[in-house]
Amino acid sequence: MINDLLKNDIIQRSEYASPVVIVKKKNGNDRLCIDYRRLNKLIIRELFPLPSIEECLQKAARYKYFTTLDLNSGYYQIEIEPESRKYTSFVTTGGLYEFKRMPFGLKNAPLVFQRLMSKIQEKVTKDNMIHYMDDILICSNTYEEMFRKLTTVLEILKEAIVHRQGRRKEHVDALSRCPNESAKETDVTLRVDKVSITSDDWLLSMQLQDNNIKQIVEKIKNKDKQILKEFCIEKDRLFRIEKEKKLRVVPKALRHKMLEECHDKNGHLGFEETVNKMKTYIWFPRMRNFVKSYLKACAECAYNKRQGGKIEGQHHFDNIIPIPFKTVHMDHLGSFIKSTKRNEHILVIVDAFTKYTIIKAVKCSATRHVLETLREVTSYFGVPERIATDRGTNYE
Ligand SMILES: [Zn+2]
Repeated sequence: MINDLLKNDIIQRSEYASPVVIVKKKNGNDRLCIDYRRLNKLIIRELFPLPSIEECLQKAARYKYFTTLDLNSGYYQIEIEPESRKYTSFVTTGGLYEFKRMPFGLKNAPLVFQRLMSKIQEKVTKDNMIHYMDDILICSNTYEEMFRKLTTVLEILKEAIVHRQGRRKEHVDALSRCPNESAKETDVTLRVDKVSITSDDWLLSMQLQDNNIKQIVEKIKNKDKQILKEFCIEKDRLFRIEKEKKLRVVPKALRHKMLEECHDKNGHLGFEETVNKMKTYIWFPRMRNFVKSYLKACAECAYNKRQGGKIEGQHHFDNIIPIPFKTVHMDHLGSFIKSTKRNEHILVIVDAFTKYTIIKAVKCSATRHVLETLREVTSYFGVPERIATDRGTNYE
C-alpha cells in the first residue's frame, strides 16, 4: 500500500509522525487511516456548507434514472502546499512518510473537496448533478437525457482537471488558507459504479469502452478476413454473425446485467432455457460457462432448489395428522457462501400440519449437525412420529 502511494506520487519520506491504522473499506480493500487527532486540534476550522443528505434526496426524488460516479481517490486530486506537507507525516514499520496529496482524516479535507466539486458543479446546470463529497449522482427522466447529462458532466470534470493541470504552480495550503486545487489529468479515473438503465445506447457506450471489443472493431477496420466472417458492425454497434443471425456482442461489464434480464426477470429459467433465450439476441465468448457459474451462484434458485429449470417436489403425506409436530419435513439447503460463523448450509424443518418452519444455519450437511438440531428442536416440541427427507445418509 505504501509502495502504491509512493509510486503514484501521493506521499514522500518524512521526519515527523502521526500514528497509523489500516481500516477495511466496505469493498474489502484496505484504507490507510492516520490518526490526525493531535494535528487537527491545531488546525483552524474552515467554513464551507455541506449539503444536507435530505436536501440531496429531495432533489433526486423528481427523477427516474440515476447514474452514480465515484471519483477514484478523490482526495488525492488535491495537492498540499510543500510547506504544510511535514505536518501530515505518519509512521510505518518501513519508516516515516508525509503526504503530497490531501489525505483522509485531515480536519478540513472534506470541505476542501466539497469546494472543488462545487466549482465543477457551477459549470453544470444545478439540476444535472447532485454531489456529496466524492459521490456524484446524475439524475434524469429519460435515458436519452441521462446520456446527454452524463456526457456533459464527464466533459466538465475532464476540463476542470486539465485546466488545473495548467496551473500546477499554485498549491493547496491544507492547514488554513484558501486552497487552489491542482492535479494531473492522469490522477482521475472515473469509474461508473451503478447504472440503472439498459438499452441499446447503453450497450453501445459500454461496447466502446470494452478492450476486447475495441480489438475486434480494429480488426474489422483492417479487413481481417477471419474476423469479418464472424463479426459485423451496424450503426457503430458490433454484432456476432451466427447462422445468418446477428447477435449483439455484450461487453464484459454488461454480462451480469444481461443474465439478470434473461434469467432472474424471466422467473429463473433453467440452464438450457436461459442459454437459448440469450442466444436469440446476444452473444459473448464462453457464454455457456458464464451462465453455468451464474446459475450456481443464483441465491433465488438455490433457495428454491431449482436446477436446470425443474422444481423439486415437496414431500407429501397423504394423511396429515392434525396435531402439530407429529410429521415434519426436513431438508438441507446449500451450500451457500460461508457466514462469519462458518456456516455453509441451512437445515429446514417444516411441520406438516401447521407449516411452522424452523431454519437453522449449520456448518455442513454432516449427520451430527442434523442430530444436534433435532435434539434442540425436539426439546421444545417433542419427538415427531414421522420425519420426511429427500436425502438418505445424513438422516439415518
Ligand atoms: Zn435463478
